[in-house]
Amino acid sequence: MVAEIICVGTELLLGQIVNTNAQYLSQKLASLGIDLYFQTTVGDNLNRLKSAIDIASKRADILIFTGGLGPTSDDITKEAVCEYLGKKLILDQEILNKIENYFKHRGARMPDINKKQAYVPEGAIVLENKYGTAPGFIIEENNKIAILLPGPPFEMQPMFEEYVVPYLEKFSKEKIYSRVLKFIGIGESSIEERLRDFIQNQSDPSLALYAKPFEVELRISTKKSSEPLAKDLLDQIESKVRSLLGEYIYGVDNQTLEEVIVEMLLQKGLKVSVAESCTGGLICNKITNVPGASNVFDRGFITYSNEAKVKELGVSEEALKNFGAVSHEVAKQMAQGALNNSLADIAISTTGIAGPTGATKTKPVGLVYIGIATKNYVDSFEFKFSGDRLRIKEIASKAALDVLRR
Ligand code: ATP
Ligand code: MG
Repeated sequence: MVAEIICVGTELLLGQIVNTNAQYLSQKLASLGIDLYFQTTVGDNLNRLKSAIDIASKRADILIFTGGLGPTSDDITKEAVCEYLGKKLILDQEILNKIENYFKHRGARMPDINKKQAYVPEGAIVLENKYGTAPGFIIEENNKIAILLPGPPFEMQPMFEEYVVPYLEKFSKEKIYSRVLKFIGIGESSIEERLRDFIQNQSDPSLALYAKPFEVELRISTKKSSEPLAKDLLDQIESKVRSLLGEYIYGVDNQTLEEVIVEMLLQKGLKVSVAESCTGGLICNKITNVPGASNVFDRGFITYSNEAKVKELGVSEEALKNFGAVSHEVAKQMAQGALNNSLADIAISTTGIAGPTGATKTKPVGLVYIGIATKNYVDSFEFKFSGDRLRIKEIASKAALDVLRR
């Protein structure tokens, strides 16, 4: 069975919203082992939508729609599918009651236009919407399947998980199983070089590299008929890759760098404090995004001005004058100061030039020093990053977390 995704909404064509539904559904279909050859995006226009349906039904068996199930007059997905299939829309009293109750719970009267959402294509399977008013539908007709889902991702995703995944599972033969290894501190091309022979001789599983800011992901994927079969193969490849490049791998699949750091500090029973200049609090933000961070995070100092570095962290005026704020010496003193002025066992610091202003001949945009201090160890590392201000801040905060990891 081949699927096609049809995302409906003029706002998608105008670039006002990012089509995350297509991304979500594509990932789900891949993991279900259902082939997807085309994604279509079409505006809220009846004729163009019908023509998209016509094209899709000639090249796919399962048409998955998102968007256009709302109550307003520009929401026409259900109407277009029914017109195309020559099906009637029939008022469903039970759904109407549900929608009325939905409004009652919120202390409001149902606007008349919402009645439109209680109409069901004849013969359709109704998918309950637990987070909104628009139900979804599955329509089976002439060996083709149309699945209509609401546009808002927080309504669409739970509906897909609960009803559509079990429905589609019967069509999947071999599912795609993937594992993602996450690298930091090594570039995409270096990884490619070290794994070249291995990647080239590998058809199953397939290996693909994706570069992200300051990290690289290696996706290992295989089509298999069962999970244990896939797992064996993925384990095998993972340990081979680890034997070649293990020191650069910080995590697997959805793990984030900050999660790995928090877990590592927890294991070691250590608390961290952070002194940030150019990253402006980003490192503290990342660490505190992880549930349980309170067990490992003591405090952060955002010392942007020289005065703050002196007053809060005890950085010496002399170091600032002789080496400048962006220097090994100041990075070290900031980390040392964060350690001395907190309850932490380990401290890191950042000081750098995020740009676009502030660069000098000897100190270009992207120059960042990251300091680290423990009771009997202080050090600092120099980095030269490229990109705009936000990218440099983001990369510097990741690099600092990586310094902590090592
Ligand atoms: P509603 O009942 O809210 O009108 P709907 O099913 O009619 O839902 P749309 O009107 O097409 O859906 O879209 C509603 C909102 O859902 C959009 O404004 C947007 O925020 C989000 N949305 C719609 N389609 C997508 C998409 N493909 N990717 C991400 N978000 C989307
Ligand atoms: Mg709408």
